[in-house]
Amino acid sequence: MLQENIPSVPTKRESEKGRVETNNGTPKLEARIPSGPIQEQWDKCRFEMKLVNPANRRKHSIIVVGAGLAGAAAAATLGQQGYHVHCFSYHDTPRRAHSIAAQGGINAAKNYRNDGDSIFRLFKDTVKGGDYRAREANVYRLAQISLNIIDQCVAQGVPFAREYGGLLDNRSFGGVQVSRTFYARGQTGQQLLLGAYQALEEQLAAGTVTMHTRSELLDVVIVNGKARGIVTRDLVTGHIECHAADVVVLATGGYSNVFYLSTNAKASNCTAIWRAHRRGALLGNPCFTQIHPTCIPLSSEHQSKLTLMSESLRNDGRVWVPKKKGETRAAKDIPENERDYYLETRYPSFGNLVPRDVASRNAKEVCDEGRGVGPHGLGVYLDFADAIHRLGLQTVRDKYGNLFDIYLRITGEDAYKIPMRIYPAPHYTMGGLWVDYHLMSTIPGLFVGGEANFSDHGANRLGASALMQGLADGYFILPYTVPDYIASTKLDPVDVSDPAFTSAQAEVKDRIKKLVGINGKRSPDSFHKELGKIMWDECGMARSDGGLRKALARIPELREEFWHNLRIVGGDDELNQALEKANRISDFFELGELMCLDALDRTESCGGHFRVESQTPEGEAKRDDANFSYTAAWEWKGPGQAPALRKEPLTFEYIPLSQRSYK
Ligand SMILES: Cc1cc2nc3c(=O)[nH]c(=O)nc-3n(C[C@H](O)[C@H](O)[C@H](O)COP(=O)(O)OP(=O)(O)OC[C@H]3O[C@@H](n4cnc5c(N)ncnc54)[C@H](O)[C@@H]3O)c2cc1C
Repeated sequence: MLQENIPSVPTKRESEKGRVETNNGTPKLEARIPSGPIQEQWDKCRFEMKLVNPANRRKHSIIVVGAGLAGAAAAATLGQQGYHVHCFSYHDTPRRAHSIAAQGGINAAKNYRNDGDSIFRLFKDTVKGGDYRAREANVYRLAQISLNIIDQCVAQGVPFAREYGGLLDNRSFGGVQVSRTFYARGQTGQQLLLGAYQALEEQLAAGTVTMHTRSELLDVVIVNGKARGIVTRDLVTGHIECHAADVVVLATGGYSNVFYLSTNAKASNCTAIWRAHRRGALLGNPCFTQIHPTCIPLSSEHQSKLTLMSESLRNDGRVWVPKKKGETRAAKDIPENERDYYLETRYPSFGNLVPRDVASRNAKEVCDEGRGVGPHGLGVYLDFADAIHRLGLQTVRDKYGNLFDIYLRITGEDAYKIPMRIYPAPHYTMGGLWVDYHLMSTIPGLFVGGEANFSDHGANRLGASALMQGLADGYFILPYTVPDYIASTKLDPVDVSDPAFTSAQAEVKDRIKKLVGINGKRSPDSFHKELGKIMWDECGMARSDGGLRKALARIPELREEFWHNLRIVGGDDELNQALEKANRISDFFELGELMCLDALDRTESCGGHFRVESQTPEGEAKRDDANFSYTAAWEWKGPGQAPALRKEPLTFEYIPLSQRSYK
């Protein structure tokens, strides 16, 4: 392992760090970043945390909503510690969580390749990759914990790819110049989830965790200012139930499906975080979304889903478009000197491995110029001819075989013979519920892990960092911070007869009845599709003042129509997927509006948030550090009321602010 090279910069007093000012200047939020040098903060924090005696743990109950990587890891670990854990998922098994879709890999600063990697380099790459809009302390901790994650998963038997000699193999992902991505062919998420799932199953068998499948959280219950339970709907019977606990953890994934078409699982939605937001949890950076550059282009307007081609393909695939506009020749007939390998030319240092935001914007630009390929001109080539020539067909097949198979099944084209066609698509949401260093939201006792929180990726997540963050949160952070909260908080006995539960339950029932009773003419999907198009056009890859204002005018009109003209077939006391969708879409409307508002407010470009008014002469994103070095944390003020903006200032003591360059 290489030595860490950390500049010694005097640190601020703990009380000053991460303090958030409200608009009227009153201190409001505390990020609770520990004092001291960054490399010692997490150790110090863990040491200072209070512990719960093993004999007392069984007296405490914890609700974990979500059984993807973050939720399953947290539930299994807290169960193993001896707490009573109730884990909820709307899926029929934890194994169906969206995490299973992750293809490419998981980062860790193990430096097995001895190619210059270190904790500090992973920290730096992530802060820089996120365009300096993440909290340094959290990112450093993430880089530290990345080492433990690989050990944990290997111990669980996760079959990471290995080199001929038996050592774990690595590959590269965008925005970095080392190979630190661990992978299990193109099924990394699935294999990691099997590891977390078996840990969860062990606790289910031991009786410490109770699993509630096909149960959808529809509200968070607050008693005396603390999160003390949830209201769920049984998706099979329609029964609305209350569940009380000492702590609630949300690990409910991301909200890319606000765009309707995305690479996310069809069921992924924002309801859990949005309902928590309506109960007082601030929402961080909602407009920070990631558009992934390598997805299979849309082929029909009736399509309801987009498919990712893993970023790992950019290790060996070369991105190009024809130099000539309106080119009609097949790829094989276009000679080398008439091809534009635009990433390699514009970004010689990083080439095809520039970060996702940069690759996506460049793809859009060449397509907007009329040089796109494929049926609608919305595609660029990802070509493996050179890699096959250099490495041999079998090596390419071994590395990426299942991705080529997916591509063949969807497009009917054999990418071993002709280049893949790819185009950017919504993929990941960096925004989410605002959390402090302990991963606690602004509601005491409500913790948030995985993609559902806003935390570590700033304005642009680097590839292979989401799995790392979800597992860091689930296995290694929440299992410390949740017990610390339990040990240091007075938790009065609460049960579901408390009026806070009965009134939340009544509100949920009313909302469901209202949705079913509208009896209008339009399907939930038709509304979702229209909302998604507004979001993609005005709050997608490029955003402008005019476009965002247009969206902010149109979304409330469409929402109004939704509440008057929605048609749900079937009742509320049975399995009813139209009702499930409608309920989720009702939240997407409100979230979509907040995303546009957040995007309008942030007049700078940064990472995945590209404001056309703010670009460098070369067309790159131009940040405005003087005015926007903060996390936007939005507060719900009630239906029809303008939300309030709070700001958590971001300071960069270890990675000095600089303009990102991948040239
Ligand atoms: C196609 C694809 C490929 C990817 N590849 C990679 C990769 O190679 N590397 C990488 O680092 N990242 C990758 N990502 C991102 C990564 O997979 C996700 O960010 C991560 O898996 C999210 O995990 P999670 O545990 O936070 O949420 P999820 O896996 O989405 O799990 C959410 C859980 O919450 C439950 N849930 C949600 N809402 C409710 C509710 N209201 N009530 C009850 N239960 C609820 C769901 O049932 C589910 O169990 C990829 C993403 C996609 C879309």
